[in-house]
Amino acid sequence: MLIGALEAGGTKMVCAICDELGTILEQTRIDTTTPEETIPKIIKFFQDKNIQALGIGAFGPVDVNTNSETYGKILDTPKVAWRHFDLLHALKQELQVPMGLDTDVNASCLGEVTYGSAKGLENVLYLTIGTGIGAGIYINGQLHHGILHPEAGHIPLAKHKEDQYPGKCSYHRTCFEGLASGPAIEERYGLKADKLTENPNVWELEAYYIAQALTTYILTFMPERIILGGGVLHQTQLFPLIRKNVLDNLNGYIHVKQLEEIDQYIVEASLADQQGILGCLKLGLKSIGL
Ligand code: ADP
Ligand code: ZN
Repeated sequence: MLIGALEAGGTKMVCAICDELGTILEQTRIDTTTPEETIPKIIKFFQDKNIQALGIGAFGPVDVNTNSETYGKILDTPKVAWRHFDLLHALKQELQVPMGLDTDVNASCLGEVTYGSAKGLENVLYLTIGTGIGAGIYINGQLHHGILHPEAGHIPLAKHKEDQYPGKCSYHRTCFEGLASGPAIEERYGLKADKLTENPNVWELEAYYIAQALTTYILTFMPERIILGGGVLHQTQLFPLIRKNVLDNLNGYIHVKQLEEIDQYIVEASLADQQGILGCLKLGLKSIGL
């Protein structure tokens, strides 16, 4: 059986044809420009491929509440061309197969839960730090949505006392994303994040902010594992710094084996940047009850 997977990102659309066991058979990448340009290219890729279902992980904010009148629509995004675009309807109209939709980060979380290092766990946090910051949250064996999908990248953080940077988020300035996303690092230091590998202060500060957010997530919903992905986390020297800061923040308050074995608790994404597309595959499978 063939299933389509679409990772609908703000800069690129990754389209894949997969089998139901999790093998990607064919994959392509389409630049995200306007819906008028981009959607026909996506449809062209999936058409005539005999897919039985399509799973979509979309950039947000997007309405993922199946009971809502605007289910499947992109909401108030800064990407003006996509604002209020009915993504699900546009794809359904042409492809006419069952579809499963969630956010891109929830899809990545589901990819890790289904095929990766969080397999078998019931409570998992997947955090991506790239152009933006977002979290996929899996609670009691389900991807979590409330009144909207989580927006855990925009939680307020306490600024480090030596950080003079005013923050990048146009809504909140110094929220997590405003302080620690790739573009925030770039603006603070005037260099692309991947050119700052040799500057330890950059990663000390970055780990300070990431750990602050993780401490809040741990205390709030006690995930069994935390998986960190996205471009910025390619700086793997961050991991020991993040783990140390989390333990310092918790200050001995919680006694669980996960924290004693923190190297296995706060971990890198395990699917070589395929967690998103594989999660989309699983969303497609779920839409036909598999
Ligand atoms: P996106 O979030 O756009 O889907 P990424 O997760 O690749 O894509 O994030 C892109 C951001 O991550 C950019 O701000 C970029 O500077 C940063 N980034 C990419 N690679 C690295 C790296 N090796 N080290 C540090 N930052 C990186
Ligand atoms: Zn914000």
